[in-house]
Amino acid sequence: MGRFLHRETHTVHRVGWLRAAVLGANDGLVSTASLIVGVAAAGSGRGEILVAGLAGLVAGAMSMAAGEYVSVSSQADAEKADLARETAELATTPDAELEELTGIYMQRGLDRTLAEQVARQLTANDALAAHARDELGITDMASARPVQAALVSAATFATGAAVPLLIAALTPVAAILPVIAFSTLIGLAVLGGLGAQAGGAPLLAGTVRVTFWGALAMAATAAVGALFGANVG
Ligand SMILES: [Zn+2]
Repeated sequence: MGRFLHRETHTVHRVGWLRAAVLGANDGLVSTASLIVGVAAAGSGRGEILVAGLAGLVAGAMSMAAGEYVSVSSQADAEKADLARETAELATTPDAELEELTGIYMQRGLDRTLAEQVARQLTANDALAAHARDELGITDMASARPVQAALVSAATFATGAAVPLLIAALTPVAAILPVIAFSTLIGLAVLGGLGAQAGGAPLLAGTVRVTFWGALAMAATAAVGALFGANVG
C-alpha cells in the first residue's frame, strides 16, 4: 500500500466529490427552474410560483438524499459481504488464495516466478488488502459514508434550486418566465463547463449537452403550464 497509492486514490475521490456536487446543483437548478417556468406559464401569481418552487426544492433535496443513501449503503453492504467472504477464504484455504493471487499477477503480465514472489510478499504484509484491491477492485476499505453522501446530495441540490427561487422572488412577476429561463441557461452553461473539467471531458461538448437538456426541460414545462393554465385556470 504505502504513501503512493494513498495519494492516488485521494485525487480520484476529490474528482468524484466535485462531479457529484456539480451534478446535484445541476439537478436542483434544472428541476426548480422548470417548475417555476411551468407555473409562471400557467399565469400564476408570485405566491403560487414561490410555493411551487420551494416545494420542488424540498422534495428534490429529500429524494436526492434518499436515493444517494440507498445507493451508497447497498454498495457498502455488497463490499462488506465480499470482504467477509474473502476473510473466510483466507482463513480456510490460504493456499488456494495464494494461487489465486499469483494467477491475477500473471494475467497482468508477470512471469510465474515473479508473480508468486509478489503474491507471497503482499500476502505476508496484508493478505486481505491485497485480495480486496487486486481481486475485488476495492481500493479504499473505509470509503462508503451513506449519511455524508446523502447530506452532500441534498445540500448541492438545494443550492442549485435556491438560485431560480431567489430570482423568482426578486423579479417582477411578468418577467419571471424569461428572466428565469435566460439565467438558468447561463447557470447551466457554467455548471456544464465545471462538470466537464472535473470529469476531464471536452469543455464545449459538456456545456452544450447540459444547456440543451435544460432548455428542453424548461420548454416542456412551459408548454404544459401554458396548456393547463389556459384550460383549467
Ligand atoms: Zn481471494
